[in-house]
Amino acid sequence: MSWPVERTTDSPSATKELAGRLARLCRAGDVVLLVGDLGAGKTVFAQGFAAALGVPGPVTSPTFALVRHYRCGAGSPVGNLIHADVYRTGSLDEIADLALAELVEEDSVALVEWGDMAVPALGESALEVTLAVPDPLGSSERRTFSMVGRGCWAERAGEVAAVLEPVSGRGAP
Ligand code: ADP
Ligand code: MG
Repeated sequence: MSWPVERTTDSPSATKELAGRLARLCRAGDVVLLVGDLGAGKTVFAQGFAAALGVPGPVTSPTFALVRHYRCGAGSPVGNLIHADVYRTGSLDEIADLALAELVEEDSVALVEWGDMAVPALGESALEVTLAVPDPLGSSERRTFSMVGRGCWAERAGEVAAVLEPVSGRGAP
């Protein structure tokens, strides 16, 4: 099994399930980059990801705070979730403190919306998830997900594919 791993969903809830399955694979120090246009579903993905880690309360786009820290629930594979949205900044300096070593020290996983901008600051070790709307003019709720792992994720394609097989209900590929 090799990259990219590709899936589609047909509803926000199916996207949350997909994200939740990926979240349960994560370990301290892991970085997940979400790339996609506004409205693609990055924040919906983040909500499913956070829910699977037992984060209490709502997860919204960090519009005013660039980065939000959440404490994960008991039973989560990781202690903290860092949710960043770098769409509103062109400044990589602002996210440079999300250094990988710190993530491990803090027992944290980082989920970064608009992650292609974040690659230089976060290094080359990440799962990059590209979200797309294949039918932007229609009323379809279909979203496509193309996942590529680099660095510590490079060898995990089989693991990612397995955990996403099958995505249940509507949204099965
Ligand atoms: P982004 O963070 O990428 O700008 P959001 O997650 O805030 O996007 O918004 C995605 C929008 O698309 C939401 O209104 C959501 O209800 C809608 N949507 C429709 N279908 C899907 C789907 N399959 N997956 C995720 N979101 C979807
Ligand atoms: Mg968003």
